[in-house]
Amino acid sequence: MAGRLLLRGCSAAALQLRRTAVVRAGHRAMASAGGIPTDEEQATGLERATMEALKQGKDPYSILKPKHYTGTKEDPHIVPSIGNKRLVGCLCEEDNTAIVWFWLHEGEAQRCPSCGSHYKLIHHDLPH
Ligand SMILES: [Zn+2]
Repeated sequence: MAGRLLLRGCSAAALQLRRTAVVRAGHRAMASAGGIPTDEEQATGLERATMEALKQGKDPYSILKPKHYTGTKEDPHIVPSIGNKRLVGCLCEEDNTAIVWFWLHEGEAQRCPSCGSHYKLIHHDLPH
């Protein structure tokens, strides 16, 4: 009788083990059925921080094409910077071959010395 009980206990434990093994195998099968893991599933560190910022509509490392501004006093070109100044290159006219370089400082909007477009420095922090 005691032997039987012991046997039952063992088989129940074995069954439990088998169940967890099946569940684990099922998990693995589901993951592999999805094909190659996406960047969202496997990205870590700086890449993940950048991706999460992009999802919120932020572009902390200037990965995307810059937004278009008219460059007027009311709608100056926004230049994000982690410091208090940034070197700006202005292509004053669309087909210009020379770039006008100048330092843009924090504070009021500045104008390009050649064409007069307005540029404004906006401070921003990096996520990392
Ligand atoms: Zn210019």
